[in-house]
Amino acid sequence: MSTQPAPQPLTYQDLMGRISAPGEGRSITDPATGQEVGRSPAGTVADLNAAVAVARSAQPGWGARSHGERSGYLNAAADAVEASAEALAELLSREQGKPLNGPNARFEVGACSAWLRAAAAFELEPEVVVDDGETHAVVHYRPLGVVGAIGPWNWPMMISVWQIAPSLRMGNTVVLKPSEYTPLSVLGLAAVLNQVLPEGLLQVIPGGRDVGEALSGHADVDKIMFTGSTATGKAIIRSSADTVKRLTLELGGNDAGIVLDDVDPQAIAEDLFWGAFINTGQTCAAMKRLYVPEAIYEQVCDALVEVAAKMPMGVGLDENNVLGPLQNQAQYDVVARLVDAAKASGARVLIGGEPESGQPGYFYPTTLIADIDNANPLVAEEQFGPALPIIRYSTIEEAVEMANGLDVGLGASVWSADPARAREVAARIEAGTVWINKHGAVDPRIPFGGVKQSGYGLEFGVAGLKALGVPQVIAG
Ligand code: NAD
Repeated sequence: MSTQPAPQPLTYQDLMGRISAPGEGRSITDPATGQEVGRSPAGTVADLNAAVAVARSAQPGWGARSHGERSGYLNAAADAVEASAEALAELLSREQGKPLNGPNARFEVGACSAWLRAAAAFELEPEVVVDDGETHAVVHYRPLGVVGAIGPWNWPMMISVWQIAPSLRMGNTVVLKPSEYTPLSVLGLAAVLNQVLPEGLLQVIPGGRDVGEALSGHADVDKIMFTGSTATGKAIIRSSADTVKRLTLELGGNDAGIVLDDVDPQAIAEDLFWGAFINTGQTCAAMKRLYVPEAIYEQVCDALVEVAAKMPMGVGLDENNVLGPLQNQAQYDVVARLVDAAKASGARVLIGGEPESGQPGYFYPTTLIADIDNANPLVAEEQFGPALPIIRYSTIEEAVEMANGLDVGLGASVWSADPARAREVAARIEAGTVWINKHGAVDPRIPFGGVKQSGYGLEFGVAGLKALGVPQVIAG
């Protein structure tokens, strides 16, 4: 039996003491207040190369352990996250901006332990594919080696765990490059996990695009797990080509929600709202355009406005808030530009659309826009913020055509009182996941991935474990 050291509960001050040195590295500021949260080590390509060498030498020993032993470590890692959950949530809230409450910082930290435990629990047996008396063929999943993980700034801890947990479970070691906007959250998470993990299994190297490029092209890295924009995904395909790396690419989306004409608008309004505004809209698989039939268009708009008006937005550490700022100036500018374009086109602002000037923080008010054309940039581009366009349709054919009209396809949803009818519409939508009467409800047991330019490869569940192994067939 393996014995893992017991995790120590860390306070916020303990955690920051481990990851941030005063006066050194890069200043990271709170997007709600502009105040410094801490300082991140700069992280260079030389640091990355050293980390890959450590990961390479630690891998054979880790890969030789049994699934049971590795799962034991993942469960200990989940215990460690739970022991320091409040410190992690506070750091996430300060650095990313998301409130402690609502489907935000505490929720994200909870998801970290849930995904670690789920990755520990799955069974992945060798698959006997032929056994007919003459031929016996079995597919085994061996460790890949070193996995390079590259992550975004919107769910920095949870997405890191999505990359780390199946990698470690399958016997790989991990070198992770977090987003330059949220390095402290990922360094904090790793400090907590590394209380219980053997040395060299998980290393975090902060840094910018140069470090990400070096990781993607590194000859001693066997696979890249990437979550981020489609543009960066394409760059990673190019920089990984010479080493023929395996890739899992979770890229941008622009998810459609289609409401059918048999719903009760009041009954679905709150779930519709959170389907779009989770993490203040900064979520890959959030609803980013909503299609509503003529017959109930005004009722759905009114019900959404009623919900939106009562959701408090503000500084994340204030326990009352459930919506926060945009994480950075560039993202704020994208949302402001797209809403301005919608307003200039004559679309109707139901709520929001007028940011307050002179306030600290990248706050953009919760915005609902009606009577908007499907070709408007607020519909056609991924806004990744708290602004939802609501588009009218008259026939299901028209709604499905508009939903499928873009070159991305991560998630989608269909809303109906009749699940069979909803499933029939769902089957016609070009997206990796279509949810019924909910949106973005990722689940560690259910495979998740995009189609079209939203990427390829599956995460979660047994399918997700297989993606972190190299299949080897033994046939005789
Ligand atoms: P981004 O692509 O700008 O950055 C992601 C990461 O890639 C960062 O760590 C960045 O430093 C790194 N990077 C940048 N250029 C690189 C290069 N040339 N080579 C290697 N790495 C490089 O994405 P973002 O703005 O941080 O995240 C928002 C985007 O991520 C949105 O499009 C969103 O839809 C998408 N996203 C997708 C999922 C999913 O599961 N499909 C989940 C979350 C976010």
